[in-house]
This record gives sequence, C-alpha cells and structure tokens, in this order.
Amino acid sequence: MKRSLFAALAASAFLALPTFQTAAQTEADQLKDLKPVKYVFLFIGDGMSLPQRMMAEEFSRSTTGKGLTINAMPVQGYSKTSSASNFITDSAASGTAIACGEKTNNGRIGMDAEGKKDLESVAELAKKNGRSVGILTSITINHATPASFYAHNVSRDNYYDIGLDLIKSGFDYFGGGGLQGNRNGDNDIYKLAEKEGYTVAYKDEVPKVDLKADKLFVRGHNGQLPYAIDKPADEWGLAEYTQQCIDFLMLKEKPFFVMVEGGNIDHHGHSNDAGASLRETMEMDRAVSVIMDFAKKHPNDTLLVVTGDHETGGLTLGFANTQYESSIYLLGNQKCSSDEFKNKVNQLADKILGPRRMGPPGRRQENQENQAPQEEKTIKFDDIKPLITENFGLIFDNQSSNGNNGAVQANLRSADRNARRKLNLVLSKSEQDRIEEAFNRQFPNGKRAGFGGGDAVANTVVAIFDNKSSVGWTSGAHTALPVDTSSYGVNASVFGGMYENSDIAKKLKAIISVPVK
Ligand SMILES: [Zn+2]
Repeated sequence: MKRSLFAALAASAFLALPTFQTAAQTEADQLKDLKPVKYVFLFIGDGMSLPQRMMAEEFSRSTTGKGLTINAMPVQGYSKTSSASNFITDSAASGTAIACGEKTNNGRIGMDAEGKKDLESVAELAKKNGRSVGILTSITINHATPASFYAHNVSRDNYYDIGLDLIKSGFDYFGGGGLQGNRNGDNDIYKLAEKEGYTVAYKDEVPKVDLKADKLFVRGHNGQLPYAIDKPADEWGLAEYTQQCIDFLMLKEKPFFVMVEGGNIDHHGHSNDAGASLRETMEMDRAVSVIMDFAKKHPNDTLLVVTGDHETGGLTLGFANTQYESSIYLLGNQKCSSDEFKNKVNQLADKILGPRRMGPPGRRQENQENQAPQEEKTIKFDDIKPLITENFGLIFDNQSSNGNNGAVQANLRSADRNARRKLNLVLSKSEQDRIEEAFNRQFPNGKRAGFGGGDAVANTVVAIFDNKSSVGWTSGAHTALPVDTSSYGVNASVFGGMYENSDIAKKLKAIISVPVK
C-alpha cells in the first residue's frame, strides 16, 4: 500500500515538473502585465500577524456578528519577516524591507545592512514619479515604521535626525501622532516644518485645517494617539485621519501613495494585553473600511494592500485550561488597557496611602520628624478587588475553591445563558491567591514596595484574564511568524502567494512605476 502510494506521488510529482515555475519566474511574469493605478494604499499593522487578526475577527464576530474587513479581502498572501541580521526582526528592519525592498539589519532605517547606503523607499519613488504622498500612524510619526518610508539613518533611535528627514522628504501629508525626541527653540521640528511650507496643526485645529494647504503636518497629540481601548469616543482615530488625508490628496488631482500604520497592536503585544490589542486591530480595520468605501467609488483606480511587519507576543488562541472552549468574547469585559489599569491601581493607592513622597530620603526623614505622629495607613487586598471587577468583570467568590464550586458559581449555573457565560469570569481559589500574592509584592504590609514591586497587580490580573479568555502569550518581544498580506483592487493578484516582506516593496515599486494617464 505504502509503496504504491509513494509511486503514485512520485509519478504525479514527475508529471507536475514541466509546468513548475520558480517563485522568481512567477513574480517576473506577474509584474509584466501590471495595470496603471492612480491611488495606492499600504496599511501596516505593527505586530499584527494571523493570531492578532483572528483574535479580533473572533471577538468582532461574537460581539457584532461581523468579521474584519481585512480578513474578507479577496487576495491573501503571506510574507516572511526575518531581517538581514536576525531571524526575528524589529520594526526598523521590517519597515525598511516593506518600504524599500531590501532586507537590512535590525535597528536600521532606510539603509542597507552595512549602514553605508541609503535605500529608496516606495514613497520616495512615488514622489519622484510625480505622485502625492501621505504617511499616517497612530504612534509617533518618527517611529521606526513610518520613518522607513522617508528617513535614512543607521539607528531608529536617532529620532531628531529622523524628524529632520521627515521635513526634507517634502511629502504632502503627515498625520496622526506627533514627534518624539523633538528639540526646543529654533531647533523645533514643527517650526522648521512651517519654514519648509508645511501647515502644522495640533489637536482641535486638526479637523478645521484648510485642506487647500500645500503640505499638511497634523497631529492629535505631541506623542502617540491614545490607545483604541482608552480613546474618548469623540476624539479622532486612525480612520478620521485617513479620511482627511484622502480628502486633502484628492484636491491635488494627482495620483498618490499613502501608508497608514496601526502602530499600537505591537505595544499591546509587548505587554501581553489581548483586550487592548484586538481593539487596536479593529481600529485599523475601521481605517481600512474608509479606503474600501473610497475604492468602491474609484474601482478602476485603487489598490489597497494590508500587511503586518512581524508578530509580537507569541499570541495563541487557545489555552491549556480552556481546552476546546473559545471564550474570546470575555475580552469585551475589559474597560481599559493594562497601562491605564496600572495607573488606576496607583491612583487608588495614592488615595488610600496619600501621595507618594518625592525627594532624597534624608530630607524625607527630617520632615517626618517634624510632623506629629500619624496613624499608619495601609492598603488592603479587599480595597482593590472592586477595581479589578469594574475593569475586567472578574468575580471574587469567597467560597471559590479549585474545584470551582463556590456560592457565586452555584447561583450563576442555575441562572440564564448570559449569567452562565459569566461563570468564566469567576476567579478560582488559585487565581485569587495569585492576585493576592502579586498584591503583597506590590504593597508589602499594605505599603508601597517602591522600585521592587513594579505593577505586579495589573500584570497578574491581565495574565489571568487573558488565559480565562482562552488566549495565551509566549513572549514579551517579537516572534518569527510570517504575516498575512491582503489586497484588493487593481493589480491585487500579485500579492497572492508566499514571499519575503522585501518583495512587497518590489511589487509596489513596479506598480507605481507604471505611468498613469
Ligand atoms: Zn515591537
């Protein structure tokens, strides 16, 4: 049996041989028949690979009945993400590969691996070919991913110089987050940008800015935009900036290239915060929907490509304790990011213990000696339980045991389906013990631990909450998973298949080099 199967396989492989093409041949053929495209959009989810997309998809389906726009795009491909120096890339090397078409070392922006040669990005080529260019991000605009499209630097950390490259690029629209590493006075990059003809707008000025301006540099904040999960509903997010960028560029009546980065999926991957991560993916998906609406109005002139630069966190959907049950919907109980929850824990401690004393310890003692002796204030584990329940829906049950037969569980089990779904939010005895142990680390004897205690409570609560939601993490850094590259519109088919991330730039460069009438 085995032998005849092997023989059949060998025969079929032999028959298939004459039609087999190498990836390079296929690509060369594909890039021969490209059609002209006026409007080219590239979206990059920083830290977004298949697990991040599927987590947001499952959450969206189970809460709204609708999946993600990016997962419904007609052409789906895979990109390998390794850099010239590392199997696991950073955002500078992957950004450079996607922007410029060449693999470089981790840390480099728009430069080759040796750090000697500047690489031309698809955005720079677009500008050279007479297109308008827009660059948008939810994080800082001189961070690694957006920087890869306009800057050339041996190190992603040279934020100020990267900011100067931003102005030099002459690109038409920069929007979303502001600059990091800016300087004061005459060296202020926003002032220098104004001198170079940019209309610079900040916060409330942004929605009112004159779209007939020559070039726009608009930011909602001095740093990054708020996390999607923490963002006030009336504040502009990535979708609103994307809409403004299109409205602005359409007035120029020229073909254009636009890159939009959903930057904070990566951040929440680093902090292993599933509820915040999926909302960031959904926020980018909302911006993609803006382009899908645009594409329907300009079906013969639009190409939309959505990719990620790498995976972050080693996210898996399914966790040992949850077996075959998916409870990703539980992440809907999370009201704020883990970063914001850390603040809330510290604010509660400040309220109970009084504000933290600053200044050198010697002086502190002196002051204490001059004060009348006070009653020692302490924070207790019971004090923070309501905060945990309020922000994650997690339920403390005094009678919980590891057999899960506490009083709250018994009540929920006998109630309706919605109540029974809440069962998964009841903390077991061992989970409660883990949080209490973290509390005692952060607040030993009911006092602040100082430097040693860190944010043990928030980190432990989020870890337990994610696992109860059937989500697991294996890393606080990036991983080497390939990412999905999805596309829609004119020439979309060339993004099918499996290829290197640097091929994305090669394909895009070929596409924007086809003259548009
Ligand atoms: Zn990262």
